[in-house]
Amino acid sequence: MLFHNVVKMVEVRWCEKHGPFRGDKCPICGDEGTFLLNDWELVALSRMLTGILRHFPEKFGVRLDEHGWANLFDIVKGIKRRHRRFRWLKVKHIEAIVLTDDKGRYQLDLENKRIRATYGHSIKVDLSDLPTEGVPDILYYPTTEEELEFIQEMGLKPGDRKWVHLSKSYEDAYIAGRHRVEDPIILEIDAKGAIENGYQIYVSSPKVFISNEVPPQFIKIAEKREVELPPEELEKIEEEKRRREKKLERERERMKRFGEESEEEKD
Ligand SMILES: [Zn+2]
Repeated sequence: MLFHNVVKMVEVRWCEKHGPFRGDKCPICGDEGTFLLNDWELVALSRMLTGILRHFPEKFGVRLDEHGWANLFDIVKGIKRRHRRFRWLKVKHIEAIVLTDDKGRYQLDLENKRIRATYGHSIKVDLSDLPTEGVPDILYYPTTEEELEFIQEMGLKPGDRKWVHLSKSYEDAYIAGRHRVEDPIILEIDAKGAIENGYQIYVSSPKVFISNEVPPQFIKIAEKREVELPPEELEKIEEEKRRREKKLERERERMKRFGEESEEEKD
């Protein structure tokens, strides 16, 4: 069967009674609802939304407050201005993406028409107003052979991302790690011990927890387990790898050209 391999297209639709959903039918009443976004639009807008809220709000003319909140109308305006093909965009589309996001990457404040990302930032935002109740006793963190020694000496500190991100399960940490390396090492974090000793851990989403730092005495290497990656996750990892390799190649090309140019200058 040929269409066995075709990736299923996911639409965002609107049920009159139950609000937005992803798929063909409202998961609650089975109604077909009305069309909001197609698969491609969902992917493109999600990518822009996380970009704006985590990395480059200024590219879209959006301002984040110190806790990372942005105005929904500003986001819509910014996307429409930058990308003409989204000139039909409305706040309801952004809300529908956020309300159907199964990863819980965002916090939506409908009353004040604002939104923020709850983790993944590469810009500095103060997320210390996130809840601290409901942190599991044990959390997990993926690392690499190269980083391991540093972590064992210094503990976990923020890197490119401004907060340390901890996972709820070994599997989640492993999958996160696989996005970076072939064979991640999974660390077990004694979250209970860290909290009892005055270190704060915040609940960002049902599966993601963040912290300013975790000292080495609360960190050990977890016992290795077999994790079977879901096919769509494997596909994503492969895609990222290809993109990284292409980027590296371009960089090498540029360095080579740059090198040749400076050689010429020397002559
Ligand atoms: Zn419904």
